[in-house]
Amino acid sequence: MQNRPRIRAFAIPSTLLVVILALAVYAGAPQASEGAFNLVSLDQEWAMRDDMLAQVAHEKQLVNDRSALEYINYVGRRIAAQTPYGNRRWDFYIVRDSTVNAFNLPGGLVFVNSGLIGEADRLDELAGVMAHEIGHGAARHGTQLMTRAYGYNLLASLALGRNPSMARQIVAQLVGTGYLNHYSRDAERQADRLGVGYVYQAGYDPHGLEDFFGKLQQINRQRPSKVAQFFSNHPMTSERIQIVDSEIDRLPRRSSQTQDTRDYQRFRSSFR
Ligand SMILES: [Zn+2]
Repeated sequence: MQNRPRIRAFAIPSTLLVVILALAVYAGAPQASEGAFNLVSLDQEWAMRDDMLAQVAHEKQLVNDRSALEYINYVGRRIAAQTPYGNRRWDFYIVRDSTVNAFNLPGGLVFVNSGLIGEADRLDELAGVMAHEIGHGAARHGTQLMTRAYGYNLLASLALGRNPSMARQIVAQLVGTGYLNHYSRDAERQADRLGVGYVYQAGYDPHGLEDFFGKLQQINRQRPSKVAQFFSNHPMTSERIQIVDSEIDRLPRRSSQTQDTRDYQRFRSSFR
């Protein structure tokens, strides 16, 4: 969920980089699915996060309201703690942007637009969308795409430390084009399934995600431009909502599931 791919020219004196960037573009619609091949180790993935973040901060306006960031990180980390990578660092950021969107980048990074927070009436709706993005991260969809685009030799020699400045350029290119957020439908389904499980285990009502999907469809009918980016990366098919619904039905009912809190409404009031 970001911008559509657009290619930027970097002034890098390397024909090799040009070749691999061309390969990345040539790879076309990427596929990330369960069990997909991944050559990037977890440590390597987490080592890329600073470059990823710097690129996003360069392109987008990030909110730096300390209490808002503390709050979204509290919610996000509670959910991320349910993943197999809960012992690693996860960071959650708010992008000042009135459209409804959210995205994940490798290394435990999740970005949520202020416009999405404004539309999420309840905490469990925001938590559900964040859990979907955390699902992409936990399934390592981003680094699977990198593996697909660059292959072993390029990753080994370029992206993983032997040539840090070139690695930085690659990351900048991948983030800048939105390449790392063009997941396959299979990947979206997997992120939905994982997200429902994580948000439930974290103690939030998993119906929030389903409700928010319904709301997105409604917004799409009334103000399509507001959700265009989200829909371009997340086709909101009835099949998808059906899967989320049946996934929720499989979970044992719990009496104490958080739907909303006063803290959330206080947090949300500055983004409406
Ligand atoms: Zn997604």
